[in-house]
Amino acid sequence: MSDCIFCKIVRKEIPAQIVYEDDVVVAFKDINPAAPTHILIIPREHISSIAAAEASHQAILGQLLLASQKVTAALGIEPDKHRLVINTGADAGQTVFHLHVHLLAGRNLGWPPG
Ligand code: ADP
Repeated sequence: MSDCIFCKIVRKEIPAQIVYEDDVVVAFKDINPAAPTHILIIPREHISSIAAAEASHQAILGQLLLASQKVTAALGIEPDKHRLVINTGADAGQTVFHLHVHLLAGRNLGWPPG
């Protein structure tokens, strides 16, 4: 999508602090971090939300989640002390409608989230 901000990051049209990328996903630092480590992992392909994903996206979705391991390794943080979040829909707090996984780490994370 030409006007999607995350598609622009994928195309390197706007800057982002990329910490990991491969042929399927890009991971970069959140511009407004909610934790000491706050990374967004996105598919290169524009999928507006997990609710809009289709069966044909199965491999991409698997790589999106597995990329969290690449991100923790790249950042040198402990692999079993983080939270992955996918906000889905405006009522659940989604503001950017390009599917993204938040990877949060570096502080105690309460439950339930707000
Ligand atoms: P929320 O804004 O409620 O966290 P989302 O789950 O849709 O909703 O998350 C969008 C995330 O994208 C936010 O954490 C926001 O800080 C981040 N963000 C928006 N624009 C950029 C950008 N240009 N570079 C990095 N992160 C961005």
